[in-house]
Amino acid sequence: MSGDAVIELTSLSKRYGSTAAVDELDWSGGRGVIGLLGPNGAGKSTLLRMLATVLSQDVGPIRVFGLDPAVAAERLAIRRRLGYLPQEAGLYRNFSAYDLVDYVAVLKEITDRTTRRDEVRRVLAEVGLTDQMHRRIRTLSGGMQRRVALAAALLGHPDLLVLDEPAAGLDPDQRLRMRTVLSDVGQRATVLLSTHQTDEVAAFCQRVLILDRGRLLF
Ligand code: ADP
Repeated sequence: MSGDAVIELTSLSKRYGSTAAVDELDWSGGRGVIGLLGPNGAGKSTLLRMLATVLSQDVGPIRVFGLDPAVAAERLAIRRRLGYLPQEAGLYRNFSAYDLVDYVAVLKEITDRTTRRDEVRRVLAEVGLTDQMHRRIRTLSGGMQRRVALAAALLGHPDLLVLDEPAAGLDPDQRLRMRTVLSDVGQRATVLLSTHQTDEVAAFCQRVLILDRGRLLF
């Protein structure tokens, strides 16, 4: 397994005071769409934040692409290959959808203008926002804003996509579209997404992790 493992976790733990948000978790995973299922407070966001290199663990080594997020140079190398949709993505509300995604593309070092324009249009099309891309974020519905953030996470064909509740606020048609896009990405990359809906993981995840009170049940 460890030969092609994209993510390797060994006895990973994170506490908040007396709460064990993630509790001695052992897991490794590779390519495909992986669903992280569990009730509110199970530790899903905490785990995803650690994998997205925005939160450090208390104990237990983390390896992503064989790299250690605790080492600055390796963390940077992970981030270059990572797309992350946080639970609450802060979007600049006066930007248009296009300008927001373009801004993230600049941060992601897609420096060539033509390449960047094509890539921004590609990801906006993937989430079905081509017709809305020049509208300001603040005039978009919650579901559309969520899709803008998802588009930004898709930029540059990341090898690992970490998505915290990507289906939240989407209507059934949009969910279907999202599943198609993510299944496609899962052919060549690792997609790890959290949800508290069983039907979501049953519909298209190849593997399911069930988390409860910071522990892996299945
Ligand atoms: P989930 O995403 O599955 O809903 P979380 O990872 O958000 O779960 O939370 C796991 C546990 O850790 C919960 O008990 C939550 O209250 C606690 N927790 C999460 N983040 C913090 C924080 N920043 N400070 C204190 N407690 C936290």
